Amino acid sequence: MIKFQDYNFKGKKAIIRVDFNVPLNAEKQITDDTRIRMALPTIEKIIADGGAVVLMSHLGRPKGGPEEKYSMKPLVSYLTKALSREVKFAEDCIGDETLSLKKNLKAGDILLLNNLRFYKEEEKGSKEFAQKLAEGVDVYVNDAFGTAHRAHASTTIIADFFPNDKMFGYLLAQEVESMNKVLKEGEKPITAILGGAKVSSKISVIENMLDKVNNIIIGGGMTYTFVKAQGGNIGSSLVEDDYLETAKNVLAAAKQKGVNIYLPIDSLNADKFDNAANTSVSDIDKVPDGMMGLDISDKTIALFKDIILKSKTILWNGPMGVFEMENFAKGTIAIANALVEATKNGSFTLVGGGDSVAAINQFNLADQVSYVSTGGGAMLEYIEGKVLPGVAAILD
Ligand code: AMP
Repeated sequence: MIKFQDYNFKGKKAIIRVDFNVPLNAEKQITDDTRIRMALPTIEKIIADGGAVVLMSHLGRPKGGPEEKYSMKPLVSYLTKALSREVKFAEDCIGDETLSLKKNLKAGDILLLNNLRFYKEEEKGSKEFAQKLAEGVDVYVNDAFGTAHRAHASTTIIADFFPNDKMFGYLLAQEVESMNKVLKEGEKPITAILGGAKVSSKISVIENMLDKVNNIIIGGGMTYTFVKAQGGNIGSSLVEDDYLETAKNVLAAAKQKGVNIYLPIDSLNADKFDNAANTSVSDIDKVPDGMMGLDISDKTIALFKDIILKSKTILWNGPMGVFEMENFAKGTIAIANALVEATKNGSFTLVGGGDSVAAINQFNLADQVSYVSTGGGAMLEYIEGKVLPGVAAILD
């Protein structure tokens, strides 16, 4: 596999699949530029080498034809400023005019293509469409982790046209390395902290983790299905009755494989799903009727913290409670802080999956853990043990 940092782009034209699917306000201003900022080092390296760059991405969910509101054009002024050089724009991502813009690129030039999803062929993974994207350039770089789990034309199929000149950009390489540091090369003890609302959406992750880690900490809404499965009282807490058997099977499989599963031991309960609810604390298996568990409480926090601080490698996916409400955020904050402490002690800590990333950002702790993943769905599929087509296309 070619390493991006070792490749010399002098005199080359590189097309980069970036994830510039950023939120725009009514005035077409970017309200969160994280995704673009993270891709800048990849663009800058190619320019510094003396290459030219073609940028392609999707934005929003157009219905398969051009729509002004999903035009990438508003990104041009941002990119021009961020990269301190002119950024050209192609109104169409394929076609004769775009091809001639590509052909005229000189060292140091940057061209942004319009939204890939103006063509249905993108999401269908059309070979013909991928070939048109590939025309007029020498190298393919994939730096869009957020779409790496989709076999789209620009994320996967296009790689076939660059058998000897395809590679990950810095961002995607970092994502894959971070996940492998946990799943393939993790220093033991390895702990996965899995939270969030439902067992059903995390069951594949839990099952895959049983073969990779020493400890699994379970928190969040999922907890109560596990507790009910073992005969506990969970009041009106979130529960998936059709997953009670699954929960039992997971606990049995963990025992058989020698993996420790830690469930919460106490619960912060509320009389309604509201930040202003009346609350009380109970043992996890004694939630009173009419009350629902919305967070872990002090005994659980102490237990989980102890396990986290004894671990050398930690993966965190999913909040411990309804952290969006201030009164039920304590458990999630405590876990985030424990991860920060573990990181300071030299452990490798990876945070991924939509809501734990939102939580760690909300607490302003993102720069104090080892790595925060940028791809929610892609990260989840990777830790479910699935092969990501965008990653496989480069590794092949
Ligand atoms: P997920 O998308 O599956 O990771 O779930 C994240 C959501 O789970 C967040 O919006 C949390 O508010 C929610 N959540 C966490 N703990 C609980 C709980 N005990 N009861 C209900 N919802 C919860």
